[in-house]
Amino acid sequence: MLNKSLVNSLKQIVGSENVVTGRIPLFTYSYDASQFPGRPDVVVFPTTTEMVCALFHFAAEQGLNVTPRGAGTCLSGGAVASEGGIVISMNKMNRIIDINQVNRTVLVEAGVINKSIQAAAEPFGLMFAPDPASLNVSTIGGNIAENAGGIRGVKYGCTKDHVLGLEVVIPSGEVVKTGQLLSISESQIDLSYFLCGSEGTLGIVTKALLALTPINPEVVTMTAVFNDLGDAGDCVAEIIARGVTPTTMEIMDNTLIKAVEDYAKLGLPKDAEALLLLEVDGFSSELESQVPSIIEAFRKNRAKNYSIAGNEQERQALWKARRSANGALGKLKPSMVVQDVVVPRDRLAAMLRNVSALAKRYGIIIAQLAHAGDGNLHPHLLYDHRVPQEAEVIEHVCDEIFKEALAQGGTLSGEHGIGLEKVKYMPLAFSQESISYMKQLKHAFDPESHFNPGKLLP
Ligand SMILES: Cc1cc2nc3c(=O)[nH]c(=O)nc-3n(C[C@H](O)[C@H](O)[C@H](O)COP(=O)(O)OP(=O)(O)OC[C@H]3O[C@@H](n4cnc5c(N)ncnc54)[C@H](O)[C@@H]3O)c2cc1C
Repeated sequence: MLNKSLVNSLKQIVGSENVVTGRIPLFTYSYDASQFPGRPDVVVFPTTTEMVCALFHFAAEQGLNVTPRGAGTCLSGGAVASEGGIVISMNKMNRIIDINQVNRTVLVEAGVINKSIQAAAEPFGLMFAPDPASLNVSTIGGNIAENAGGIRGVKYGCTKDHVLGLEVVIPSGEVVKTGQLLSISESQIDLSYFLCGSEGTLGIVTKALLALTPINPEVVTMTAVFNDLGDAGDCVAEIIARGVTPTTMEIMDNTLIKAVEDYAKLGLPKDAEALLLLEVDGFSSELESQVPSIIEAFRKNRAKNYSIAGNEQERQALWKARRSANGALGKLKPSMVVQDVVVPRDRLAAMLRNVSALAKRYGIIIAQLAHAGDGNLHPHLLYDHRVPQEAEVIEHVCDEIFKEALAQGGTLSGEHGIGLEKVKYMPLAFSQESISYMKQLKHAFDPESHFNPGKLLP
């Protein structure tokens, strides 16, 4: 807890209505969506960039740690003040400043919720392509910091592919503009790209200029059922190898199919080992050639059967299965760790099979959901946190999953970040030299290491 005089100084910067102190109110900011708690000494809600600058000057003078926070949906511990200090919540900087249909851009403050951007763009026939499953609550600042992906990621990429420019306050309290927020546009070191995915360790994003994407006129939604989980993985790899880039390719394994069917009663095949949910979008002329090619890939990879949604109602029913995953799994066990490894697409089948084998070997429940088109697996490890042995086994199995992903030529994280959770595995994924370069960059921005300490870098 900060002493009264420090709290008063903060109140002078942001207004007393924008400062949260006290044991119980602070408790609610001690968590994100990960298993890693960390209590801040104070939470502040700036409403302007100038306030953020003043907060940084104050924190630097007092030697206080600073942790940026959006909606707190981070799954790797990035948004918690694990070493105390000030949490700067961006929730009150939530204006959509300008939307430009001709340039297909939107200028927003960092606390705007992803869904609000989608809602603002839709009347113009546009969308913000990154669509994390948390889009109803997660902020664009958090999406940028984590380089969030989403189910459309196979075709449209992640957040960093749609950021045109940023306004960022760096730990020294200076405002840096990048990309198209600069008045000059000649060659430059692309700081926007570099800041995306840096997990709030280099500065706080206050504004972002984002690219919007036209919503395609036609969409075809398909499902295929498989008797073997690996066949579903091979099918995904083959579809891409055929030159088709679906918008979405999601695999659900048997554990997840059964849990969703018991929960939502959608008529899913509970005896199937895998369900592939796939969507292609474009003009009807493009889709006419893509759909037969996809069906051929289903056939070659031993799909038991497949179906195509006949109308929007049927399409929504198929999506309901995917969206019900978290709720359905919550009925099986009280706690869940969602992992986020990525493997090359040609290793997807092996990775899916090996994760299933781990579940059997350790006698635990792992439900597998994969943004398969990107090779991004989300094994959901279910357990009861009140039983210490169960928590221990889960930690051990996570360890094995990370090592297996790296052995398959993959990475530790596709979209949930390194945060606190995976920092100890960084030396397994990156060479000493690479880590040393990352640390030098961090040092250039934050020489005192007061900015979101303990995250991302070992
Ligand atoms: C149910 C659920 C589903 C999810 N689905 C997806 C998914 O499909 N795809 C995906 O990629 N992720 C997903 N996530 C993870 C999470 O939603 C994303 O990482 C999201 O981008 C975090 O946004 P946030 O506003 O909640 O940020 P927070 O959790 O508050 O913060 C995340 C990180 O960003 C930093 N940060 C926040 N705001 C700023 C800022 N303005 N400037 C600099 N740094 C900042 C924080 O310090 C922290 O390190 C999911 C999470 C949940 C709980």
